[in-house]
Amino acid sequence: MTTVQETRDLRELAERAGRDLEDASALEILTWAAETFGEKFAVTSSMEDAVVAHLASRALPGVDVVFLDTGYHFEETIGTRDAVEAVMDVNVITLTPRQSVAEQDAQYGPRLHERDPDLCCALRKVKPLEEGLAAYQAWATGLRRDESPTRANTPVVGWDEKRQKVKVSPIARWSQDEVDAYVAEHGVLTNPLLTDGYASVGCAPCTRRVAPGEDARAGRWAGLGKTECGLHG
Ligand code: SF4
Repeated sequence: MTTVQETRDLRELAERAGRDLEDASALEILTWAAETFGEKFAVTSSMEDAVVAHLASRALPGVDVVFLDTGYHFEETIGTRDAVEAVMDVNVITLTPRQSVAEQDAQYGPRLHERDPDLCCALRKVKPLEEGLAAYQAWATGLRRDESPTRANTPVVGWDEKRQKVKVSPIARWSQDEVDAYVAEHGVLTNPLLTDGYASVGCAPCTRRVAPGEDARAGRWAGLGKTECGLHG
């Protein structure tokens, strides 16, 4: 259990690091996180690509990579998870919701994602991640400022008020071109759907292909007036 003083110290640490590391490279940011938190640091990955997991494995070999298996993923996403586990120096941890899709359907009715996507995300993403991150003091994400207006102010290191943890976004300042260049240079695994018209990959029922020039996240919850799953709010 983290005490109030420890929480206050962590918050100050996060805010200071956010200022000090704003111009640092992604690897420098992750090296800071690895040295500061050690085994209490984890990377989360949607398995859209393995860029942050790859960077983190260079800073902290064997780093925990947390993947949320919502039960609604594309086969390609599960395949990417399996490939990352097989070839990278990381420890993949798969989190699952308390209820299977069938159990959720029985309680809430089928296709909850169409009728109440916020509740579906809360049950299948937000809650499992909250429980899965309980043992860590800091977590890393692949958020980028250029992905959407809601992510434009993402700090490279910040305070996750909801979970009371340090949140590290080492590639927050990167562009898509920089991501592509890193993938090409290091041969990083990517989800095959990224070369099949998808710019952002989430659960299958809530993800569609995007047209050329469309915002990368326009294909997520299209038509539902929803832009984020609640993991980053
Ligand atoms: S993205 Fe869609 S299917 Fe996945 S948890 Fe959220 S609402 Fe449910």
